[in-house]
Amino acid sequence: MDTNRLAELLYPNITTLPADMEARYPARVLPEGAKVTRFAPSPTGFLHIGNLYGAFTDERLAHTSGGIFYLRIEDTDAKRTVPNGIQIIIETLAKLGVVFDEGAVIDGDKGDYGPYRQSERAEIYQTYAKQLIREGKAYPCFCTEEELASIRERQEAEKLNPGYYGEFAVWRDAPIEKIEEKLNLGIPFVLRFRSEGNLNNKHKFRDEIKGEIDVTENDIDHVILKSDGIPTYHFAHAVDDHLMGTTHVIRDESWLSTLPFHIQLFKALGFKMPKYCHTAQVLKLDNGNKRKISKRKDPEAALTYYHSQGYPVAAVREYLMTLLNSNFEEWRLANPEAPIEEFKFTTKKMSVSGSLFDLDKLNDVSKNVISRLTAEEVYEYTLAWAKENDIEFANILESDKEYAVRILAIGRGGKKPRKDIALWSEVKNYMSFFYDSLFARTDSIPESFESDDIKAVLKDFADTYDENVEQNDWFANIKAIAERNGFCPDMKQYKASPESYKGSVADVSMFLRIAVTGRMNSPDLYEVMRILGRERVLARVNSLLLF
Ligand code: GLU
Repeated sequence: MDTNRLAELLYPNITTLPADMEARYPARVLPEGAKVTRFAPSPTGFLHIGNLYGAFTDERLAHTSGGIFYLRIEDTDAKRTVPNGIQIIIETLAKLGVVFDEGAVIDGDKGDYGPYRQSERAEIYQTYAKQLIREGKAYPCFCTEEELASIRERQEAEKLNPGYYGEFAVWRDAPIEKIEEKLNLGIPFVLRFRSEGNLNNKHKFRDEIKGEIDVTENDIDHVILKSDGIPTYHFAHAVDDHLMGTTHVIRDESWLSTLPFHIQLFKALGFKMPKYCHTAQVLKLDNGNKRKISKRKDPEAALTYYHSQGYPVAAVREYLMTLLNSNFEEWRLANPEAPIEEFKFTTKKMSVSGSLFDLDKLNDVSKNVISRLTAEEVYEYTLAWAKENDIEFANILESDKEYAVRILAIGRGGKKPRKDIALWSEVKNYMSFFYDSLFARTDSIPESFESDDIKAVLKDFADTYDENVEQNDWFANIKAIAERNGFCPDMKQYKASPESYKGSVADVSMFLRIAVTGRMNSPDLYEVMRILGRERVLARVNSLLLF
């Protein structure tokens, strides 16, 4: 077969050679050991928590080695592409603190190795494909959908491996005349890779996460260019990662099954292979069983969830790091204040079998992160969140910044800061009783107390409240109110003979707390009252006296 002639027949418009491409994209000049990684999503408009898991790994490996982290858009499947898919990817990741050094940007490219959208690289792929044809390593296949379906049916009936191989690879050795005949009729073709692999050949392969794995050779003549000349994932992966100088391919472990084909492609194309890091799936517990986090069932599968719920970026990063590297938590305990970038990230500490994602744990991490922020910072983050998600609350916050910051300062600072906020979306509820427009009583005083006793206590408080006293004097007054109204001022004494009293000083505080905040639980009541101010405190206490 005259393969040169075949190459011209199939791709007459391609005049470039691989050498031209190699010259167009010279090897990167980077410090020794620098890693080049890429995040390579399809622009489907949806990013999964697993994508973030991969993107963080890419980012850390590149940036802890003085390397480059770039964004490549894998848009070869038009059916999976949504119009603003790229914008969604860039913006969603940026909101989670993932920023690229190079690659696709919303309206173009940044960097010397573009275009970074695969749909714009047809000439590059076809240049290499044409070379494979010249070398007898690729050939056209004119099978129709029906023909392929009937091959599949036969394989199923005879319990054979599915795929285009051996006797089923009907165009593999077709004479050039037959090919020309089809071409003359304008029949579309796909380009297939001529596999020399054999299922009986197995060898070892080193994955940077999984360690040494067994690989069985591929014997299927997979498609490398579709009938429109656009490559499949496999071919684009080999060509792009070679030309763009990727040193480490971090991708989901579901790609392991096609790794044997990728190994063949790199070899056939004469490319040096990158290192592979196949990441484990992100799992969750569901009724005690581990399963994959699912886009369909779990809202936390979508990356947009974290931003819309108002998780601080630092918390998501921090938590994800505990999932990514098994020694991160230990490091964090030893270095509570250190910036996360100082942690020595490594693929050696990544899970091989699956990473269990636990939303409760993320919430705890988030509470810790928020507890360490200043009131002013909490205000700014909450306001930014509210501007996007709850404009009414944003307006309230902005109407009196100083007041809001005073509220958020309660229990902040010091050795044991309060840890009751996990999400920016929770702040409104946390603060609501400080604002008359948001105030609502959610708890009421238990019915076991006599209404007259409650009123007597509240009235006594209203008559004796002095907003200018120190906390100790304020509490001494609460005790005095308790005593005057038949409630025990001392908890020890009360526990010794509860039957002698209507209740204790704790009950008196509870009446006041519910009167003033509408809740059983609140931050320190003395602080709360000082911030609310005399007028509001008394108005709320008095409103309970009316019933
Ligand atoms: N486009 C592929 C995906 O979205 C990328 C896999 C890879 O990183 O190589 O799954």
